[in-house]
Amino acid sequence: MTVHKTDLVIIGAGPAGLFSVFEAGMLKIKSHVIDTLEIIGGQCTALYPEKPIYDIPAHPKILATDLIEMLEAQAAPFHPVYHLNQRVEKFVKNADGSFTVTTSKNTEINCKAVIIAAGCGAFGPNRPPLEGLEEYEGKSVFYAVRNKAEFAGKKVVIAGGGDSAVDWALSLAEIAAKVYVVHRRDKFRCAPESADQMKKLAEAGKIELVIPYQLDGLEGSNGKLSAVLVKDFDGNVKSLEADYLLPFFGLAMELGPIANWGLNLNKHHIEIEDASTMCTSIEGIYAIGDIATYKNKLKLILTGFAEAASAAHDIRKIVHPDEVFHFEYSTSKGVS
Ligand SMILES: Cc1cc2nc3c(=O)[nH]c(=O)nc-3n(C[C@H](O)[C@H](O)[C@H](O)COP(=O)(O)OP(=O)(O)OC[C@H]3O[C@@H](n4cnc5c(N)ncnc54)[C@H](O)[C@@H]3O)c2cc1C
Repeated sequence: MTVHKTDLVIIGAGPAGLFSVFEAGMLKIKSHVIDTLEIIGGQCTALYPEKPIYDIPAHPKILATDLIEMLEAQAAPFHPVYHLNQRVEKFVKNADGSFTVTTSKNTEINCKAVIIAAGCGAFGPNRPPLEGLEEYEGKSVFYAVRNKAEFAGKKVVIAGGGDSAVDWALSLAEIAAKVYVVHRRDKFRCAPESADQMKKLAEAGKIELVIPYQLDGLEGSNGKLSAVLVKDFDGNVKSLEADYLLPFFGLAMELGPIANWGLNLNKHHIEIEDASTMCTSIEGIYAIGDIATYKNKLKLILTGFAEAASAAHDIRKIVHPDEVFHFEYSTSKGVS
């Protein structure tokens, strides 16, 4: 078991969680961030990385993935420790008022306060039921694209019919040697412009549409894929030569263990006691972003940003109880 000690644990590396690292850092609060996904960014990276967002202040238009990159860079000076690919399972309030948070990978973190920025709950990819899948996961089978360059010159099979599958097919067609898109229907559930664009690339031979087919098996050895088997509805199987498989079958979301932490819940959301501090019914535990609810709550990224600032200021009193606080703008304070 790995045991860490820090000031603040942030559950969720979505936009609200990432901005909390910055806000906390500006108040000399050190953070560890935990997320079930293997990449940071929450819904922005998992659900709509290539879509432009139009209501982030001072950005008339910004791609979701670029917003996350910038939030990561903004948080970086405060050296957050990220624990990805693991779900927060339980917390214990210790006799000295601190918390011990434990994850599904047995990472244990002792901290003075917790921010729950868990969005709609823990995300997990819907995994295709393929024999021997585990052997390839994280090596040749990925549920999210962390580094697009890895696919340059490679043969990639993308499975799924939604926005993520189509957006990544369009994006990887620029650099991959071959892109197959496997979908069990003729129609795609994505933005119509993206479907049109994919059709054009298919006509130009840049993408091969394998429809209506579904995944049937994997071939390769030691985690290295050589082919993906697909089957049509008459049971005919064909083999697609492949280096990588990217299944995009959506994400399952569930509040998970947080639901049993004794917090006041309201229809799968955490009820906030005081929206000026974002504190929950348990002292030292705060909730922000989509998971937090109060009267007239707006579920927007910009709301989560402001909530991160409010929570961090209240947490400062817990982390530095003896320090007299003098409010300063970032323009005066700088980022140190
Ligand atoms: C298609 C689409 C378009 C959108 N467009 C806009 C837009 O234009 N403007 C706008 O403002 N908003 C938009 N939104 C909404 C916006 O994405 C959300 O409001 C925002 O992502 C919420 O941020 P968050 O940090 O609260 O949570 P999320 O982004 O949901 O991140 C929460 C993270 O917490 C993790 N997590 C949860 N439980 C646990 C646990 N137990 N252990 C570890 N990790 C956990 C999850 O895996 C997830 O990564 C859009 C949403 C969608 C789906």
